[in-house]
Amino acid sequence: MTKYKIPAILIFAFLLQLTPLALIAQSVDTATLGHYQRIADDIIFTGLRSGHAYDILSELSVSIGPRLSGSPNAAKAVEWSKGKMESFGFDNVHLEPVMVPHWVRGNVEDAAIVSPGSAARKLNIAALGGSIGTTDDGITAEVLEVKSFDDLKKLGDKAKGKIIFFNRPMDRSKISTFDAYGGAVNQRGGGAVEASRAGGVAALVRSMTTMIDDVPHTGAMNYNDSIPKVPAAALSTKDAEMLDGLLSKGEKVSVKLRLSCQTLPDVESANVVGELTGSEKPGEVIVIGGHLDSWDKGRGAHDDGSGCAHVIEALRILKEMGLHPKRTIRAVNFINEENGLRGGKAYAAKSRPNEKHIAAIETDAGGFAPRGFGVTSDSLTFDKIARWSPLFASIEADRIRKGGGGADIGELGRQGVPTIGLRVEGNRYFDYHHSDHDTIDRVNERELELGAASIAILAYVLAEEGL
Ligand SMILES: [Zn+2]
Repeated sequence: MTKYKIPAILIFAFLLQLTPLALIAQSVDTATLGHYQRIADDIIFTGLRSGHAYDILSELSVSIGPRLSGSPNAAKAVEWSKGKMESFGFDNVHLEPVMVPHWVRGNVEDAAIVSPGSAARKLNIAALGGSIGTTDDGITAEVLEVKSFDDLKKLGDKAKGKIIFFNRPMDRSKISTFDAYGGAVNQRGGGAVEASRAGGVAALVRSMTTMIDDVPHTGAMNYNDSIPKVPAAALSTKDAEMLDGLLSKGEKVSVKLRLSCQTLPDVESANVVGELTGSEKPGEVIVIGGHLDSWDKGRGAHDDGSGCAHVIEALRILKEMGLHPKRTIRAVNFINEENGLRGGKAYAAKSRPNEKHIAAIETDAGGFAPRGFGVTSDSLTFDKIARWSPLFASIEADRIRKGGGGADIGELGRQGVPTIGLRVEGNRYFDYHHSDHDTIDRVNERELELGAASIAILAYVLAEEGL
């Protein structure tokens, strides 16, 4: 015994007197965390060693390809997803049918500057999803550029008969590209309504991306039943800059726009569901979801083939490891996130007797390196989940922040279910989003796999611990 050693009994008595309850609780947490840490490390190891995420994504985004709701490819994707879940031996694999909108782009889609003659050239456009078409002759009209709906209102009668060009860029100075997108996307969603309300004949919307290139980015737009419908198309950012250059010199610029897109009758489709049934509380469910549908531009690799691959692979890893969590983990490949959210709404509306949703996790931000999770819940629940962040530290996916979820699980959130979104490295997502750039070569195999592992870890701990 050295002179520095204090008898253990004295230390214990001292600690018992002074240690706050929180510290004792924390030491219990630390032991539990150690147990989960070993499982988390194994999940990551299993994924990196024998992961299937990239193969799953390849089947969906390369072999099937783009899969807009209502299209034959979307129907193929539903069948493929069911078959994939069955092939991995998931429990209770089934379809939950839902009617979805069926919008088609058609064969004619072009635009060109027709005057002044010196500036005549073709423009790179893509009809926005849900837009009406033009007549065969198209619409030829002078272009009026605005940066906001307020600008447009102030212009009054000047908008009459014009093609309204919404050209407020995504704010490049924002650190979060999702914030930048959120600050610009009302032009895409509401541009046609506001153009029509002002007396305009069509809406041309700068693509939602910070890249300056020739590729237009499509996406959903809305109409308002009390305002006449006018066609709407996205314009590539390079063309938006060029048009802005002409207009800011005071040129009168006229554009001809032709679109053959149209909305056909609704089509029956389905959400695809597969589970790892809980070993002790099967009626308590943790949903992990991504969406199966994509836009018809590109191949829906990041948006949201990666999310579908994440959730199928997460469940597959847990199965491969022979884990039997107490509560049910349910993988859902939702349909129709992009242009109607019918899948998410139908999932939440379906009667599920003897079942309770503990939490819902969505992955719809691309297949990039995972960085953590955003959580929408009460603060006690948030604090509990945040304490698990060390489990994700080895792959630098340990940033757990307030606020998160996803469009497909939004309705569950409104029913009071805590919602969680996988956060990933976000600088490139909008370079590809809803465009011909969204292809599998933009997805890194390891990053995709680590996203799946992150979801597997969180879903597993939630299924063991509950909330
Ligand atoms: Zn998406």
